[in-house]
Amino acid sequence: MAIIEVTNFRKVYGSTVAADDVTFSVEEGEIFGILGPNGAGKSTTVEAIAGLRKPDGGKIVVLGRDPGDPSLRKEVGVQLQESELPEKMTVREALELFSTFYPKPADWRQLAAELGIDAKLNARFGKLSGGQKQRLSIALALIGDPEIAILDELTTGLDPSARRDTWDLIESVRNRGVTVLLVTHFMEEAERLCDRIAVIDRGRVVALDTPQGLIAQVSTEQRIRFRPSEPLDDALLTGLAEVREVRHHGPTVEVIGVGDVLQAVTSVLAVNNIIAAELRVEQANLDDAFVQLTDRKLAANGSDN
Ligand code: ADP
Repeated sequence: MAIIEVTNFRKVYGSTVAADDVTFSVEEGEIFGILGPNGAGKSTTVEAIAGLRKPDGGKIVVLGRDPGDPSLRKEVGVQLQESELPEKMTVREALELFSTFYPKPADWRQLAAELGIDAKLNARFGKLSGGQKQRLSIALALIGDPEIAILDELTTGLDPSARRDTWDLIESVRNRGVTVLLVTHFMEEAERLCDRIAVIDRGRVVALDTPQGLIAQVSTEQRIRFRPSEPLDDALLTGLAEVREVRHHGPTVEVIGVGDVLQAVTSVLAVNNIIAAELRVEQANLDDAFVQLTDRKLAANGSDN
């Protein structure tokens, strides 16, 4: 069931078209990623879903309602970019204060424990580390016990270990039954966490698929590298239907191919009693997919205005 539906969403600021024509829907229970370069229109889109910006065109429906509907305030938890609290406010005060905004708030003590900030209840916001601030901001986004959590650039500015901890938190949020809309420009984050991803570029959705689907869309090519135990006649490999090209880098052989090229190559080597040392297979990742998708968009556009 789609719980967020964005259809032909458009938002213009003066002469800047922030969202040109954005269409996607988010299913209940998924972690849906919005991935795109800076200025692509990601925040504008999620802020409109959160009811914070009014569309100039198109339609957004959240849980069957208009995003501006006040009844959605408790259903949609929002953690926006650079959310700041007063420096002197303690974690406990923030949790208590935000609890009062909602008719049926979640138990903030339990949330604090789940998010690993229960030892910091008396600490002031200004004294928290980046990771602790993020945990608190997730707790505040969840305090109304929402059905949907919108998390915008949650891990920007965190060190890799804090980022990984945050990923575990996002998974635990989903495991509570909350649908997560995650804005990110980190490929690894999108690949690791998201069930589906909308790639947004220049205010438009240029691709929408699972991470694996996006990768498959742009590249079916694989690269295999190995060091053969004895000299290898290239014809053994180039004769295979799956192999497109064979290259030599000193003692290392590189085979570029498609389909089940790994199986084809290893079978031929086995038949010829050749052992492949240091065998490595390189596949396209979401990074490659992203570059190709956004470049393709540019090429199709004929301009990069
Ligand atoms: P992203 O989140 O993908 O980085 P944004 O949605 O924040 O992108 O911004 C999209 C474009 O709209 C950018 O060019 C940005 O400078 C512009 N923009 C965003 N908010 C405003 C605003 N309030 N006034 C004017 N321009 C804005």
